[in-house]
Amino acid sequence: MKYYDKLIFELSRPGRSGYSLPSQEKFSSPEKWLADSFPASGKKTSSVAADGAATDEHFSAKRSCISAATPKALLRAAELPLPEVSEVDVVRHYTNLSQMNFGVDTGFYPLGSCTMKYNPKINEEIASMPAFTGLHPLQPAETVKGALEVEKSLDKALCAITGMKSFTFLPCAGAHGELTGLMLIREYHLARKDFARTKVIVPDSAHGTNPASANVCGLEIVEVKSNSRGLVDVESLKPLLGPDIAAIMMTNPNTLGLFEKEIGEIASLVHSCGALLYYDGANMNPLVGKVRPGDMGFDVLHLNLHKTFSTPHGGGGPGSGPVGVGEKLLPYLDNVHTSGFHGNFGVMLRAYAYILMLGRENVKMVGPLATLAANYVKESLKDAYKLPIDSVCKHEFVFDGLINDGGHDDVHGATTLDVAKRLLDYGFHAPTIYFPLLFHQALMIEPTESESLETLDSFIDVMHKIAEEAAEDPRILQGAPHNTPIGRPDETAAARQPVLKY
Ligand SMILES: *Cc1c(COP(=O)(O)O)cnc(C)c1O
Repeated sequence: MKYYDKLIFELSRPGRSGYSLPSQEKFSSPEKWLADSFPASGKKTSSVAADGAATDEHFSAKRSCISAATPKALLRAAELPLPEVSEVDVVRHYTNLSQMNFGVDTGFYPLGSCTMKYNPKINEEIASMPAFTGLHPLQPAETVKGALEVEKSLDKALCAITGMKSFTFLPCAGAHGELTGLMLIREYHLARKDFARTKVIVPDSAHGTNPASANVCGLEIVEVKSNSRGLVDVESLKPLLGPDIAAIMMTNPNTLGLFEKEIGEIASLVHSCGALLYYDGANMNPLVGKVRPGDMGFDVLHLNLHKTFSTPHGGGGPGSGPVGVGEKLLPYLDNVHTSGFHGNFGVMLRAYAYILMLGRENVKMVGPLATLAANYVKESLKDAYKLPIDSVCKHEFVFDGLINDGGHDDVHGATTLDVAKRLLDYGFHAPTIYFPLLFHQALMIEPTESESLETLDSFIDVMHKIAEEAAEDPRILQGAPHNTPIGRPDETAAARQPVLKY
């Protein structure tokens, strides 16, 4: 039997249970036991004994409160139809289910643009401390001084890392941060009565959320082309700049993992036309400790604490996309500060714990190590995979499929999708595929700084082995994966018509 083809309800057998407790009256007739033990007309005034323990009256009062407060229609008429299983059935069922998923804790996860780095467990321990988890966002400020101190210190640390002046932690994702940042830019222009700035320049290599956020903000998108080196083409940018441009959204290194060397010139061109520079800092880790967006001339940025600052990605949330601003936008940040609570505090705690654990010295190693790991993998594999832009990369790089895909006569060559699926058979998560859109067979690899040389070497070996298999017989790859619970689902149907019931 395969562990994933039975639901817990199908494992159920009438009368089976995880525990057998000694028989006691209160369990055989709970109603009678409750009535006898907690008569409704208790006269005693104190419900808490001198030693602080709750007394019978305490429970009695609670019980009548609950039954008075629950409308009759909502009280359950029949027993809950729970599965009847033994303890070991439950443990095996859920442990096996947890193994159906791939995570950073189970293997190497080189998903480009996502920074799937290892998340130290100390972060989790700190984020689950009752002193923090028990807080309520409406508590008076004087009762949450410790938490506010964490927020202030994290703000300070991120300002030091990015070269910004102040952060808001309200945005709960990178895209949410982009929208917040663009709204700040809009406020800035409107306050200067500069009403004509309705357009945002976005490079063709940008992450999809950039144009999407600009659109949600009501701004028009103007695309700027990349040159043959994969960088923003300054000559193509110049004619786009004018009195209708509100901002340019960039990330540096860009989504190809390449550092925009002309950023200084781009910044002064953009500023001299009266527009601002937005920095997409979702993947800050190649820069941490090395270069600061504030020093490159950016006016506002968002970070993804759930990427760079080692919080697990939670399937679309909960994340944290704090927005940092420089001098020009500082006056507008107060409007954001007063519009909500304190952000996704658990994620902020994890980020702060991570930064403190590294300390000032080791935080400086994050960027160089991420860069070294990516270049090592790129150089080791470029004999087997097409490298369209052969230069030093930062945290990630993009291949354009196999050099020899094994295709001949009637046999179709192996595609990037086939390589990705075959990797699963060898115990590795696939890289990001078919993004960015600049190449047809894009394979975007980001190893992160958290992997050992041995792990990188075994990934390189497997990628070489897959390339050999493709050259020999691409059908080996086309049938992959061979040993996962689910092979190749219809991804469109899975997203648009998910089957959520058994
Ligand atoms: C992940 C990512 C985003 C979006 O972040 P979310 O938290 O998923 O909204 C934006 N830009 C880049 C470059 C990213 O990698």
